[in-house]
Amino acid sequence: MRKKERAIFTVFLWLVFLVFPSPSHPDSRVEIHKLRHHVHPSFTRVVVEIGKVREFNYNELKSPDRVYVDIYQAKLNAILHNHAYPIKSDYLSQIRIAQKVHSTVRVVVDLDFNKAYYRVWHLPDPFRIIIDVYPKESPVLPPPPKLKTSIIRQLGLGIQRVVIDPGHGGKDPGCIGKKGLQEKEVVLDVCHRLKTLLESLGLEVIMTRETDIYLDPETRTVVANQKQADLFISIHANASRNRKLSGAETFFLNLSQDPSVVETAARENATSTKSISEMRETIQKILQNTKIPESKELAHTVQRNLVKSLSQKYSGVKDLGVKGGPFWVLIGAEVPSVLVEISFLSNPTEEERLGQSAYRQTIAHGIYQGIIAYKSTLEKGID
Ligand SMILES: [Zn+2]
Repeated sequence: MRKKERAIFTVFLWLVFLVFPSPSHPDSRVEIHKLRHHVHPSFTRVVVEIGKVREFNYNELKSPDRVYVDIYQAKLNAILHNHAYPIKSDYLSQIRIAQKVHSTVRVVVDLDFNKAYYRVWHLPDPFRIIIDVYPKESPVLPPPPKLKTSIIRQLGLGIQRVVIDPGHGGKDPGCIGKKGLQEKEVVLDVCHRLKTLLESLGLEVIMTRETDIYLDPETRTVVANQKQADLFISIHANASRNRKLSGAETFFLNLSQDPSVVETAARENATSTKSISEMRETIQKILQNTKIPESKELAHTVQRNLVKSLSQKYSGVKDLGVKGGPFWVLIGAEVPSVLVEISFLSNPTEEERLGQSAYRQTIAHGIYQGIIAYKSTLEKGID
């Protein structure tokens, strides 16, 4: 092409780009799940972990005094929905975070402009927004802590709210099949399917993650407790060095000496930073007051219905049963909680099946049937 033609062509390409921007992903919002703050002696720092570069804007508002930061193309993870962090300081009272509109997350810092000034800035890799608040004078001693009345929740007999936990995510892929299928991706899809089924029944469903983000295993049950859920279901795919091993199994929290259970637990716990000895101590404490019998019963109904659902459509489905195991993700849940290993990614047949949407739907349907069965046994118990 000659120079002039080339110039015209370049302009043409730009016009095409402007008129037909590349189609965006159905949900291109980055999921925000971490807001940290630290009260230093000379200032308070708020860090919003975002992970991907996002546009943001900040401004101040009066009566009451506050600074807000709007983060665009972002959505809040359930763990942070309408969350507030009270701060014991005389220049800053609290930090709040909420989904302002569909694609905007707003962080608000309630402060006193007579006593404080602030700075909003950001850091790359991973992208995060930082709000620093400085007292104008030397810090005053914080007021004595208020006594918090502990929220004691009594579990109703029915089930209204279910937390579904897709295992792994982000930097942690979970196990990976020989053909490259990743656990984090399979379980997220199964959980979305399960969510749709449960919602059609009128239940409220909260997912610990809705996209491909990393969450610590021990913080996942925090969502269930915070949201006062009635059930917690963590969904995983299994792996074994024995590639012939296949089937579904369901776990509830317990101590176990079974070597195969210990192997699965070690793998699923691998991302946790807590040491095993620390874990034993925690389990000893937990075992006395957690919902073990309910969790065991839930595990049985889920396992039975999952295997039934799969066996109706697929051959050679193995029922590996219900087992107690030391899983970090189940520790700390104040509600009946189970971990379902839906199939083995290490088994070639099951890896192939896990790649198919019909198989994933059958799994979701089986777990859904299990939850309904558990719900109905509770409701029968009313009278
Ligand atoms: Zn897993």
